Amino acid sequence: MLHRIRGLGMTARVLERGDDVGGTWYWNRYPGARCDIESIDYSYSFDESLTREWRWTERYATQPEILAYLQHAADRFDLRRDITFNTTVLTADWDDAANAWTLRCDTGDTVRATYCVMATGCLSVVKQPDFPGLSDFAGEWYHTGRWPHQPVDFTDKSVAVIGTGSSGIQVIPRIAAVARQLYVLQRTPNYSMPAQNRPLDEVELEAAIATFAERRKICEYSDAGVPHPPPTQSTFEVSPDERRARFEEGWQRGGINALSAAFTDFFTNEAANKEAQDFARAKIRQIVRDPHTAELLCPNHHIGTKRTCVDIGYFETYNRDNVELIDVRAHPISRITRTGIQLSDRHLDVDGIVFAIGYDAITGALADIDIRGTGGRLLRDYWANGPRTLLGLQIAGFPNLFTITGPGSPSVLSNMVVSIEQHVDWISDCLRHLRESGFNRIEASPEAEQRWMEHVAELAAETLYPQANSWYVGANIPGKPRVLMPYVAGCGQYRHECEQVVKNGYDGFILGAGPITVSEGART
Ligand code: NAP
Repeated sequence: MLHRIRGLGMTARVLERGDDVGGTWYWNRYPGARCDIESIDYSYSFDESLTREWRWTERYATQPEILAYLQHAADRFDLRRDITFNTTVLTADWDDAANAWTLRCDTGDTVRATYCVMATGCLSVVKQPDFPGLSDFAGEWYHTGRWPHQPVDFTDKSVAVIGTGSSGIQVIPRIAAVARQLYVLQRTPNYSMPAQNRPLDEVELEAAIATFAERRKICEYSDAGVPHPPPTQSTFEVSPDERRARFEEGWQRGGINALSAAFTDFFTNEAANKEAQDFARAKIRQIVRDPHTAELLCPNHHIGTKRTCVDIGYFETYNRDNVELIDVRAHPISRITRTGIQLSDRHLDVDGIVFAIGYDAITGALADIDIRGTGGRLLRDYWANGPRTLLGLQIAGFPNLFTITGPGSPSVLSNMVVSIEQHVDWISDCLRHLRESGFNRIEASPEAEQRWMEHVAELAAETLYPQANSWYVGANIPGKPRVLMPYVAGCGQYRHECEQVVKNGYDGFILGAGPITVSEGART
């Protein structure tokens, strides 16, 4: 976004909480942290020479490699000189008369700007562990989403991991490999597909780079922002043997869409979805030797309606003698003690606890800032019954505020890099259009926002997504309104809808001209 804004000849200041760039890849330094989108597709596309020169080393990049890539991009485009690090934005106030935003930071700094772009992330506010007694614990404890910058050594220690989502499923095999004893405290089992990770050889990488532009175009108009051909047949169009063969083929290929890419009705037809569930559960029973543990690990929600995990040796980890799975629904956590975790019926002595308990997703980072729009209306209050946006890009009553991958856009249901780049381009084009048309103010009309929210909800209702207690619907945060937040019809359809809005002269947005009070009238 900063690079694009500079390209428009506008000035910008980026405010960042961390002491360096990287976002999710800056904070999530836990052992095993790795992307579940193939590295070549989890890359920027805006600069050809960057694409040509960067060498990804594995099919799925590790956190250190992605962080190095982001740091490299920051250096290459000389971004740091416009980024203020170690700064948390506390409030953002819209001043209608001045046509400007004022941001106040924890450092005491104030920034004033005509436009404000929230690039605050969908999974950046961690769910805090609020277990009673945690402050008494004499050992070390960590949240996967706030992992220390220094290495953590669990060698020969007794460790508990709480949570078995994507983060837990990545960290568990790595801790199991070094710890004396690992207890995994599971509340809800999850489906996980094998990554089938491997080194990227030169030939494969060169071929991917040579065809990158076409490959990215396919991603942009695909469902999930990845370049795989969409399924053409529904589940029951083929024989049971053919069905199993397709699932097996997906399993051997690996990755997040190993099963979901097999048939067209995976997310919409319960019976079809159950076929994939049965296949995944059979795999777990095949891998995990102890039948009781295997049953505990078998999920029973519709597969894909909670984020499918991708692992390297996760289920195999339960065949180790030093690993014990504990079902905390049957044996609830009473409290944390000085020496460990008190369950309803036993005490676990541990030296360390890892909380892999997730995030206040999608809206958390925006709700964390006191954002006040026209008439002093607080965004948190406006969204009390669930987030409302137009295209996930703007909010009625909050002029000149843009949200990158906001609720109501494909965001977390897609390859985030493809979706982020789309929003960055859309916002940049919009800023250019405003300037060329003599405007400096834009906001979503309440009617267009209402229509968009109805459209997003109608699409959601055609799928199985709303049925699961997932963070997609806010179910992991007590009191959060239950609304399926992302747009479910895929990147391609969403992109067409965004393009149509622009073609129709920013249909649904109110464009205007206000006073110019910030220098150059163009500061973002
Ligand atoms: P998550 O998916 O929300 O999983 C949190 C886990 O903690 C769940 O198993 C949850 O159980 C459990 N939990 C929460 N509170 C608990 C409590 N009080 N007691 C016991 N268990 C509790 O969080 P995450 O694993 O950090 O992943 C979040 C998202 O980040 C992922 O879905 C994915 O989009 C992204 N991510 C991606 C990657 C990757 O690219 N490979 C890696 C990590 C994360 P319940 O299900 O019962 O609530």
